[in-house]
Amino acid sequence: MQIELLTTGTELLLGTTQNTHGAWIGQRLLRVGLRVSRQITVPDGEAVGRAMRIGLEGGEALIVTGGLGPTSDDLTREALAEVLGLEMIEDEAAMRAIEEFFARRQRVMAEANRKQAQAPVGADILVNPNGTAPGLYLPPRLSGSFNCAVFLLPGPPRELYPMFEAEVVPRLQALSGIEKVPEFLELKFAGIGESDFHEGIDDVLEAIPGLEHGYCARPGEVDLRLMGSAASIREAGEIVRATFGDELVSDDGANLEDVVVDLLAKRGRTLAIAESCTGGLIASRITDVAGSSEVFRYGFVTYANEAKQELVGVSQDALRSHGAVSDPVARQMAEGALKAGEADIAVAVTGIAGPAGGSEEKPVGTVFLGLAERGRETQVYQQFHPWARAAFKRQVSQSALNLVRLTLGR
Ligand code: ATP
Repeated sequence: MQIELLTTGTELLLGTTQNTHGAWIGQRLLRVGLRVSRQITVPDGEAVGRAMRIGLEGGEALIVTGGLGPTSDDLTREALAEVLGLEMIEDEAAMRAIEEFFARRQRVMAEANRKQAQAPVGADILVNPNGTAPGLYLPPRLSGSFNCAVFLLPGPPRELYPMFEAEVVPRLQALSGIEKVPEFLELKFAGIGESDFHEGIDDVLEAIPGLEHGYCARPGEVDLRLMGSAASIREAGEIVRATFGDELVSDDGANLEDVVVDLLAKRGRTLAIAESCTGGLIASRITDVAGSSEVFRYGFVTYANEAKQELVGVSQDALRSHGAVSDPVARQMAEGALKAGEADIAVAVTGIAGPAGGSEEKPVGTVFLGLAERGRETQVYQQFHPWARAAFKRQVSQSALNLVRLTLGR
């Protein structure tokens, strides 16, 4: 089924609001075996009508988001009526719902809100419990020769998502007639890049009949998407696990931090973290996970040399002789965090995020990771991630969490 998505809003093109509807709607539809064929984004104003025409021509369903508000730049309803030559009337039930919305909040309804109850004859009003703008659904017959179903949906995510779930998904499922949803498996990996797949098993996956695969790579992580028949996914999953089993983080959508917290809980072990160049990101990611209080003890952000000395006992000698970004300092940070953090396992990172501070011997992007564990020898690893600051931090946090995962998985 050809589904066209039209996201409207000047702010989306100015970049002041990130256009997240495409990603959210795409992922939601994938779960019912549907996909968006094309996404067009236009500013508020007359571009909306022109883009609607393109969507109506290309699609069997057109989803339009935004521009249902009461202000003068919210003209999606009017644009659709004009493109399709439909008469708009005030829908009584929609008007009542808007009035009730204001009454519940003890606010006076502005006259401008009245236009939000306008709908073409024959359209379904989609109830919006979270805002004033009702959505609209026009069955294909209302679009004449376009023969395209149309959904007009509000822009704010907290209004759009519930409406999409309750009103859009069931209608699209019925329109598409899809009964058997293709299987879908997402495998998350850490410690390898997309190129490893291209060099390793891409051809093998390509040759599996009935399978579609794709990648999504971010700093320090790759997601592999498998879609198709149950048999093809099983076959692909086995090949991937046999090739990159150690790097496989999850096959159920769990993030690296989820897996680390889960492993710590299962093994009955606690974690401490000493961070320099990541500035607390690793601790932040761990504490994103519900239940982390059971396993996470201390996070030390030891940015200055004095902090490394005072909080996790790094020696002045190590700092002087080797520098803050060095094997001995990463080692002492990890061992110090283990002790001061009274934990079973500790990870430490110290690196050069840049853009300044690099040298020939230790260029920007150099990082040392230390892993200390009760009763075992401390391990130190050197890595090189010459990326911009944010990507560097994310990558280092990924490496550190992956180190903990691998240690716990042993
Ligand atoms: P409102 O009644 O709030 O005016 P609306 O249906 O007219 O609702 P818009 O005015 O187009 O919607 O958008 C309202 C807000 O919704 C935007 O400021 C933005 O924060 C969010 N929004 C709109 N479109 C998107 C999008 N594609 N991705 C993410 N957020 C969006």
